[in-house]
Amino acid sequence: MKIFVINCGSSSLKYKVFEMETENVLAEGIIERIGIANSFLKYENNKGQELKIEAEIKTHKAGIQLLIENLLAAEHGVLESMDQIKAVGHRVAHGGEKFDSSILLNEEILAEVEAMSDLAPLHTPANLMGIRVCQELMPQTPQVGVFDTSFHQTMPEKAYLYALPYEYYKKYGVRRYGFHGTSHGYVAQKAAELLDQDLEELKIITCHLGNGASMAAVKNGKSIDTSMGFTPLEGLVMGTRCGDIDPAIVPFIMEKEDLKPAEIDNILNKKSGLAGASGVSSDMRDIEKEAEAGNEQAELALEIFNYRVKKYIGAYAAVMGGVDAVVFTAGIGENAIETRTEILKGLEYLGIEIDEQANNCRGEEKIISSADAKTKVMVIPTNEELVIARDTKNIVS
Ligand code: ADP
Repeated sequence: MKIFVINCGSSSLKYKVFEMETENVLAEGIIERIGIANSFLKYENNKGQELKIEAEIKTHKAGIQLLIENLLAAEHGVLESMDQIKAVGHRVAHGGEKFDSSILLNEEILAEVEAMSDLAPLHTPANLMGIRVCQELMPQTPQVGVFDTSFHQTMPEKAYLYALPYEYYKKYGVRRYGFHGTSHGYVAQKAAELLDQDLEELKIITCHLGNGASMAAVKNGKSIDTSMGFTPLEGLVMGTRCGDIDPAIVPFIMEKEDLKPAEIDNILNKKSGLAGASGVSSDMRDIEKEAEAGNEQAELALEIFNYRVKKYIGAYAAVMGGVDAVVFTAGIGENAIETRTEILKGLEYLGIEIDEQANNCRGEEKIISSADAKTKVMVIPTNEELVIARDTKNIVS
């Protein structure tokens, strides 16, 4: 069975085509700059053929049409007909409280997702557009929605409610939802497999450290807390997002700098985090380089980043009553060796002891704690698209 996975953003669209018998990726890539000058499609197939097709891609529909042409192309295509695609799985950023698992999309469900779009105004409309275009271009093919929030719907009220007037929760749905759910769920399951233990019996802290970064406390297979909140702004320091701050800073800066809500929102989401604190870049590799070259502000930004992760490890060990495993994933988590070392330093009291030699790895599944450490630490490459493909397959089978 072949499954098409789509992660549709406002001006870009990531895709993968899976052969589910083997879970191999037949083709993958990205369409970038949709509706903007210099748009292009990147395409790579399982025979190692790579293409960058520069074309005027004015709409998502035009982008997906171009992609379909390439999937079917004689020289580098991977399909004979689009009918070979048994279903399309879509990443949907926000499922609110309604969707605690992936679901077959129909008009009723889409209307419900649309009604919640003010919870993720930058993402949901784009996700919906991807779904609509696929419905139009592949009218006979089932479409499945996989929500970034679903995995965290198991959090107890005390973890997801903010101490704000209760009416805002009731009126506007203001609560913690959490994101990166497919990733946290996937690496927690993988960690249990790597330990050869039952997920239901483990206390795992998952650290998804990418451009966007979040952590989750996964107890007995369920997310009981996570660092992102009402939006993906809360929690860890990220590439350009500030993470946790005193909320009183917001009106203070707005008044001092005469800013409108959209302007402060832009600063917190796009100009803060590693970029804001380092004054160098939002990219971990650039900051590491600068810090090595002696840039003290870059070094400080790294310290702030690591310190926040360490604080959450402590917090989540506390709420779970201990921790059996800590998992690192996503761009930084999988690759930044020094970052992992610094985060874990001083956590011996939690049974965490890193094996520096084992930790000297990038992007591979590996246990990096010393052999006799009570708490296992591991690197597990995430695979959100595979989770979407598996869910999609299960729903249509
Ligand atoms: P996104 O959230 O956009 O999917 P990724 O998971 O790809 O992000 O993570 C991007 C981050 O990973 C960037 O900060 C990048 O610098 C960092 N990263 C990637 N490779 C390395 C590496 N070899 N060493 C350190 N950081 C890395």
